[in-house]
Amino acid sequence: MKLSLSNGIFSKLSLDENFAAVKKLGFANIEFNMKSIKKEHDTAVYREQKALAASGLNCLTLHSAIMHVKDPIEVHQAVYYGKISLECARALGVSLVTVHSDIAKKLPQNARERCLTEIFNDEIKPFAKKLGIKLALENLSYTSTGFGKNVEQLEEILKIIDNGDMGITFDFCHAQETKQTDNLLEKYGKRICNVHMANKSHKPFTEPKQELTSFLTKLHDYGYDGPITLELEHKTPIEEIAKSKALFDRLLRGF
Ligand SMILES: [Zn+2]
Repeated sequence: MKLSLSNGIFSKLSLDENFAAVKKLGFANIEFNMKSIKKEHDTAVYREQKALAASGLNCLTLHSAIMHVKDPIEVHQAVYYGKISLECARALGVSLVTVHSDIAKKLPQNARERCLTEIFNDEIKPFAKKLGIKLALENLSYTSTGFGKNVEQLEEILKIIDNGDMGITFDFCHAQETKQTDNLLEKYGKRICNVHMANKSHKPFTEPKQELTSFLTKLHDYGYDGPITLELEHKTPIEEIAKSKALFDRLLRGF
């Protein structure tokens, strides 16, 4: 497994400062979070490409811009954010993009289905395929306005948008918050391609915890060898990020 840091934590900094802060902490790998781009409608992806190359960091994954849809009229905007994220992934040479189903959970099921079809099946999936990029759907927390926090909800989504090619980004923080860790692991263990790692409320783990080692052991048993991406709340102090890194450097040595 490879330790990585979501650079979303430094999204308030300029891109060069953002990458420099990641490097200063000693990380070699990042997940590029689209919120690091000041304006998500900014299409200057070559600037990101140059900054990444100059930093020497490896970008393992990219977190798509949020594709909020609380009304079907917003489908086109969601498609746009999704496509810009994919363009950025291409510029950064990333072949795995994490997506949410940010279709509002308040929408009736038939409207949700229509939105998912129009966004993913008609637009985002063919575009990702053309670029050679794999998509990985993330499990959400109960606090999210989007849909997809447990197996039942994720299955509803996957039934519409998946034809066997959709990966899963397993968010351990969300899974713990919704008490769905075991259910989600059992159902999706074999198709996980990215892990978002944090304690509840996206606080960092700074010391070994039983639930953490048990999770890593299960992941290992499923044959997982992909990224363990620390995805931390943006107010996390630098010392805490460093402590968390040291902990995972130690823990991941065992896998
Ligand atoms: Zn996440």
